[in-house]
Amino acid sequence: MCGLSKNKSENSYLNTHISVLKSNPYLCAMRFDIITVLPGLLESPFAHSILQRAQKKGIAEIVVHNLRDYSTQKQKSVDDYPYGGGSGMVMTIEPFARCIEKLKAERENDEIIFMSPDGETLNQKIANQLSIKQNIIILCGHYKGIDQRIRDIFVTREISIGDYVLSGGELPAAIVVDAVVRLIPGVLSDETSALSDSFQDDMLDAPVYTRPADWNGHKVPDILLSGNTPAVEQWRFEQALERTKQRRPDLLSNDEGTTD
Ligand code: SAH
Repeated sequence: MCGLSKNKSENSYLNTHISVLKSNPYLCAMRFDIITVLPGLLESPFAHSILQRAQKKGIAEIVVHNLRDYSTQKQKSVDDYPYGGGSGMVMTIEPFARCIEKLKAERENDEIIFMSPDGETLNQKIANQLSIKQNIIILCGHYKGIDQRIRDIFVTREISIGDYVLSGGELPAAIVVDAVVRLIPGVLSDETSALSDSFQDDMLDAPVYTRPADWNGHKVPDILLSGNTPAVEQWRFEQALERTKQRRPDLLSNDEGTTD
């Protein structure tokens, strides 16, 4: 098991797990292979901050594959007109199949994910589930979408980032990778901070403050300056609960299992 879980009953186990990982945070490397027709779109999201650090530490490996390299067409084309007519081009099966087969021959993959507006909507539970995997392939669609047979034959999971349509699967793929990689122990400087983030434990996060303690008469709550850690924890819990009640009451009635 590699990532963090929000399952309440697992939290004490997780604390032990986290301290073990702190002494050797490189126990689990996770690999993402992202297949795209626009690799340049994915350069920046992985070249900064937490995702960059995760790769430098060797905790996450993110490899972007140019779909055109797998096209046997003269013009390196990866799309064609839709059968039955209609607007928009459709991405062809062959380049995806060649790339996926190559990756499958190199290592066992836990999931082959297609980013798609009609997939299951990404949430923290899905991010938690994916964070305990080792090797994930992500397919980015474009144009009108990809030939249905790619989905039928190769794809094991389809994920949407929300009920709106983007022009390509690259930004959605970057969002999935970000949400997942930050859960791998050793990626955040203090792993437990991922556990207190919004949606872990079906709660939103509590408000946070930093210096100055008084900005033009707008003061930080006294309790946060008290140095009384249990009281601060209690305050944070109450604030988080109140915020959740107000903004996302649906989360409080969520009794679903939390990890696979
Ligand atoms: N015709 C498709 C949309 C194609 S958009 C439909 O109506 O469902 C082109 C590509 O962008 C998709 O194949 C998908 O890979 C990506 N994409 C667009 N919106 C997305 C979303 N909300 N979540 C995940 N991927 C999305």
